[in-house]
Order: sequence, then C-alpha cells, then structure tokens
Amino acid sequence: MIVLGIESSCDETGIAIYDTEKGLIANQLHTQMAMHAEYGGVVPELASRDHIRRLVPLTQAALQESGLQYSDLDAIAYTQGPGLGGALLAGSAYANALAFALDKPVLPIHHLEGHLLSPLLADEVPEFPFVALLVSGGHTQFMAVRDFGDYELLGETVDDAAGEAFDKTGKLIGLPYPAGAILSQYAKLGQPETFSFPRPMLHSPDLQMSFSGLKTAVLTAVEKTRAELNLSPTDTLPEQTRNDICRAFQDAVVDVLVAKAKRALLQTGFRCLVVAGGVGANWKLREELANLTVQSTPKGQLERVQTYFPPLPLCTDNGAMIAFAGAMRLQHKVAQAQRAGAFDVKPRWSLREIVRENVQAA
Ligand code: ATP
Ligand code: MG
Ligand code: FE
Repeated sequence: MIVLGIESSCDETGIAIYDTEKGLIANQLHTQMAMHAEYGGVVPELASRDHIRRLVPLTQAALQESGLQYSDLDAIAYTQGPGLGGALLAGSAYANALAFALDKPVLPIHHLEGHLLSPLLADEVPEFPFVALLVSGGHTQFMAVRDFGDYELLGETVDDAAGEAFDKTGKLIGLPYPAGAILSQYAKLGQPETFSFPRPMLHSPDLQMSFSGLKTAVLTAVEKTRAELNLSPTDTLPEQTRNDICRAFQDAVVDVLVAKAKRALLQTGFRCLVVAGGVGANWKLREELANLTVQSTPKGQLERVQTYFPPLPLCTDNGAMIAFAGAMRLQHKVAQAQRAGAFDVKPRWSLREIVRENVQAA
C-alpha cells in the first residue's frame, strides 16, 4: 500500500510517500521559518498563502524522488487538525482535489498522532505498549500508547507548551523565532547553576506540567542582571550571561520533563518511552532520557527504560509522519479511507476525540 502524506498545519509544508513494503520512499519539506522570523512568530495569512504555493511542486518532487506516478498512489492522507485554520484548509483542499482527480480515497489525520508515531520511522522501532512524551511547539503531554489508534492522555501542560516556553524565553533575550534550537546551542556553552529557575509542578502528584511561569523568572533575572551591569533595556546581554541563562532555563525544563516521564512510566508500568515533537531534538533532553532508570519501590531495583526518539529531521513537522500514520491506520484497520469531497478541518481537536472515533469504528 502506498500513501501520500500532506502536512500543512502550521509553518511547514510537507509532502511524503510511505510504502508499507519499502518504508519511507520520499520526503519533501519546505519550512516558512525565515518568512515568519521577521515578524517574531507565525503570521497565519502568510502561512496559508505559502502552503498553496508549495503543495504542487513538493508533490512533484516527492513523486520524482520515489520514481512513482500519481496513479501508483493508493490513498492521500492529510493533516485535518489541530493547527491554523487557513493553513489546514490549504492542505485539505489540495488533498481532496488531488484524490478526487485521481479517484483515490482520502484519510484525514490528527497531527499529534503523526508526531506520536514518528519514532516508529526510525531504524530501531519501539514496541507497544509505550509512554509517549509529545513535546512540541503547541503541546506537552504524556500518552499511554497501547496500539495504533489506542491512545490515552495521561497528563499535559496546564499553560504553555515546552516549545512555546523555549520560543518565548528566546524572544525575551533577543533570539530570533523560533528560538528553541538556537537557545539550546547557547545552553551548551553556559555554566550550570549560575542562574537558578523554578521547576513548576515538579512535585505535583500527577502528570500535569506548567511552563508559563518560567519566562517570567527569566525576565526577572534578565532585568536584575541589566541593572547590576548598568545596561539599558535595549543593550544585549554579555554572551556568557546569555549562555548561562539559556543553560539554567533548559535545565529547568528538562528536569521537569524527566521527572514527569519517570512518573508516567511508574504509573503505567511500561518500561518503554517514546519522545516526539520539536523539543525532542533538544540535546539535553535526549541525553537525560537516553539513560533513564526508574525504581518502583524505594528499596526496589533500578530498572532501565528503553527510550526512542524520531530521527532528528522528523522531530519537527513533516509529511512523513502523516503518510505513515495514514498507512498504519489503513493497514491495521483503525480507520477506513473516505471518498474525497467534504474537507472540513479541525483547528482545535483533542487526541481524546480520535480515541472515541476508533471505538465507534471497532
Ligand atoms: P504542534 O505539533 O504542537 O502543533 P509545532 O508543530 O509548532 O506544534 P514542532 O514542529 O513539533 O511543533 O516543534 C517546534 C518547536 O520545537 C518550537 O517551539 C521549537 O522552538 C522547538 N525546538 C526545535 N528544536 C529544539 C531544540 N533543539 N531544543 C528545544 N526546542 C526545540
Ligand atoms: Mg513549525
Ligand atoms: Fe507539530
């Protein structure tokens, strides 16, 4: 079975082709990051217009990359939500038009299911059941994943997503949008514990998290440092200070994610952790989670956790995860492909709802 995947929920246009026999055979991506950078964030209208410009050439490039023709495709999977309404409409209108013209079925996909399953595209593949930490620009949640289509939300951030916290904190110290990757590079050069930031909800007896207070803590530290160094609010911070702040911020976020990951593993009894989403590219988070152990009782044995990450290029938005999620839904009979036509999008859409859809389909 050969599935074309279309991703357009935010500021990346992704088109990929997944073959259930050969694996991922094409993966084309255009990121609008540079276009939005000058505005300090994603401008929805510009995003939609750019998706429209990119969809056809990227599809042609994907077909060329795979050596396939349009007629070789069995189904068209596309991101139906959540995301920016206009951006989603560009992808879904295109997916349905293409499917209608080719007389092929379509498959609407939940963007987070795409992220969630992306580690299964790596060479080393996790086995069900596992705990998924979905840590992206818009979401930070723990899920119990028992099978394709069987997802249970265990807990999530009550305010900002971790990626959003990276981006907002970066902006505060003058880094370009999106700041996550560059902030983590500066963190590498920073001295640990020069600054100390809170670990919100670290000890709460659940899997809820909170990251919005962190940027306020960083702002306070920046203002205090500026005052001490007699700098005006427009002066840039000395490089080492900036790096130290980045380090302390990253350490705080990673500490919370690691502690909550342990809690999720203990709570479910699973010993396999899968990390997905843009912040999954963070070196410190990877380092800490790669060597994770848990202890079920205070005097119990330390148990090793198997941790899996998506390949780095598949951490952020891409078409590969959508093509793959579509192919798996069809192959494992979680969903049926539909006739092209109605192409409503779901800008707000909880993964909880797709669980219900599956139950109905079963
Ligand atoms: P969602 O999938 O929740 O709708 P999104 O698609 O915008 O959100 P992703 O594309 O998965 O999110 O990830 C983008 C986020 O990842 C941004 O917030 C970015 O700053 C962050 N990010 C990328 N690389 C790193 C890194 N190395 N360290 C920390 N954060 C990073
Ligand atoms: Mg993006
Ligand atoms: Fe995403």
